[in-house]
Amino acid sequence: MSDIVKPTNEKQLLGHPQGLFYLFFAELWERFSFYGMRALLTLYMVNVVFEALSTRDYAAAAVYASYGSLVYASTVIGGKISDSILGMRASIFLGGILMALGHFVLAIENNIAFFLALAFIIVGNGFFKPNISTFVGTLYKEGDPRKDSGFTIFYMGINIGGFISPLLCGWLGQTYGWHYGFGLAGIGMLTGLLFFWSGIRKNVFGDGGKPPSVEVYEKRIMGIPQHQLVRILAFFAAPLIAYLLYSYKSLGGEGTTFEDTNIVNLLFYIIGVAVIVYMATIMIKATMDERKKLFMALLITFFMTIFWGFHELHGSVITLFAARNVNLSLINASQTNALNSMFIVILSIPISIMWTWLAKRKSNPRTPYKFGMGLIFAGLAFYVVSLSGGSADENGMVPFSYLLLLYFLISVGELFMSPVGLSKITDLSPKRIVAFMMGVWFLSSAFAFQIVGFISKQLAIESTDSNVGGFDTLDIYLGGFSLIAKYALVSGVLVLIFGPLMKRLMGNVH
Ligand code: GLN
Repeated sequence: MSDIVKPTNEKQLLGHPQGLFYLFFAELWERFSFYGMRALLTLYMVNVVFEALSTRDYAAAAVYASYGSLVYASTVIGGKISDSILGMRASIFLGGILMALGHFVLAIENNIAFFLALAFIIVGNGFFKPNISTFVGTLYKEGDPRKDSGFTIFYMGINIGGFISPLLCGWLGQTYGWHYGFGLAGIGMLTGLLFFWSGIRKNVFGDGGKPPSVEVYEKRIMGIPQHQLVRILAFFAAPLIAYLLYSYKSLGGEGTTFEDTNIVNLLFYIIGVAVIVYMATIMIKATMDERKKLFMALLITFFMTIFWGFHELHGSVITLFAARNVNLSLINASQTNALNSMFIVILSIPISIMWTWLAKRKSNPRTPYKFGMGLIFAGLAFYVVSLSGGSADENGMVPFSYLLLLYFLISVGELFMSPVGLSKITDLSPKRIVAFMMGVWFLSSAFAFQIVGFISKQLAIESTDSNVGGFDTLDIYLGGFSLIAKYALVSGVLVLIFGPLMKRLMGNVH
């Protein structure tokens, strides 16, 4: 059996394979759960889980960073196990169930179960996220020009979920009680699974996503079929991961001394080296053309890391900034997490039409240029908000328009990079390792959370004695934003300068 769908005589909808729309809704609801929970996470940690600590900002920053890193790093393992044993369908089911479980455990509102809940979401996301994205890629034949727009539509689904859920879960969570917000996230995940399941029942995926080999799938180890063993191990990985998350305590965070390194940080140094070594072995065995493309895939993953490192501050520093230093009237601080997705939904069609329009005139910028511009937009986003101090009121609260502008600019940057990269990754990777490469792509987000951790911990150290808002925190946040702006602008300009070199590596891939 093969993971590649044969799209030839397949039913179409809006010019795309019908399967795309089932994956669209499944992912929409999965992201609904993911982002609904994320909107509440930092505020929940600061106000509930770590409420008793004087270093609550620091502890929240450390756990948020570890959670984010692990939630995306797990996608490499989920991608690999799918490629070799489970196939995409079984992986998506397993991941969805574990994520729903995690959200429901969060809804219990118990400070110890809290870590276990995050761990279930981490393992679940590892199985769900890379596989549903790879599945989209397999709906199209190689070189199918609809693939980029297919990914744009899919990205739209992600962000419709990411837009609605902070509004709903954030409203429920902050108005009626955290558990309502987390509970709704869990229900969202189950809804996503229902969509996926109905796609399978209606046979819209053909043979796509089935296990790569029935023998491997059924092969028994100690009497247990491998696919069951994977499920059992996935379940029992959660307590171990919960322990890793909890390690913010053993190496820093609690009390008055701060340590910049915890077990998860160390783990990421190791993972970084391991990925590079493993990729090197793959590249040695690959053909020259594959090798160049894989190298480029790694480069775009690297630039994406820098971008996400600033972008993923949304759920931590920027949510706290919104809560403490932004004048909000219509929405609460957790609901501001909807703004990024809102802009993506508004802008993704115009921007993808712009690419097609430019392509017709043979002037669609190639990937490296889009990436350079994306980083520059991120820089501008933080630069603009770093200027907001002049408009602060007597309580150190800045106008909401600055936050809106930050989200607008960074979302434009995101559209220049993320959907483009997602699609290019599937083009630049040899078919045999495409799900694994999707995992490597998501590693960009994993490492990004280490950057998020670094930044948010620095800001937390400064804000510990004055974390109630006002000009103390305003100055700290704006100082941080202005530094971030500089780093993002410089990296964007560097990417533009090296664009011609990178273009050569990509060969026929645009
Ligand atoms: N917002 C996108 C998603 O949820 C990308 C997130 C990421 O990779 N950091 O899929």
